[in-house]
Amino acid sequence: MKIVFAEIAKETRFEEPVAAQVLDLGYSYSASVEATVLEVTAAPIQGGCHLRGSFPYRGTMPCGRCLTPVPVSGEARFSLNYYPASAAPPREEETEVPLEETEDLYVEEDHVTPEALVTQQLYLELPEKVLCGDGCLGLCIRCGADRNRGGCSCPPEPDPRWDALRTLDHTRKE
Ligand SMILES: [Zn+2]
Ligand SMILES: [Zn+2]
Repeated sequence: MKIVFAEIAKETRFEEPVAAQVLDLGYSYSASVEATVLEVTAAPIQGGCHLRGSFPYRGTMPCGRCLTPVPVSGEARFSLNYYPASAAPPREEETEVPLEETEDLYVEEDHVTPEALVTQQLYLELPEKVLCGDGCLGLCIRCGADRNRGGCSCPPEPDPRWDALRTLDHTRKE
């Protein structure tokens, strides 16, 4: 299924199932998001097509310190105006689009698929970083062992202040 902008002659409501997705977050991180149902209302506007809607999402993202999957969920809402790329205004300074406001998109394609719409909105919706807990100890920087599950056999990292103290002590004695 796809929403072809030019075919939207009157306000039309769609309800489309969207399969589970794995989103690449960069640095070998990825988020897994379960299947969902996208609700979207399409309407013609001057020179383009307006899409607004929402979908619930549930999934997991790796803890930013120890990589354990952390549940994430919520409701994504969007309001978008699609225009052909050829209609794009001369490039102005990048301005942040305030949340809850309609965003103007200038696209090469004449359509959008429910999958693409969900993916695009999930990237905006998902938090940049999650933690499994405030007290997460993270991974050992030497062997990669999860320090939340007990110690590894790596020697503890010396506190750099200790060296400084010893040097100070030395100077005093001499
Ligand atoms: Zn963690
Ligand atoms: Zn270790």
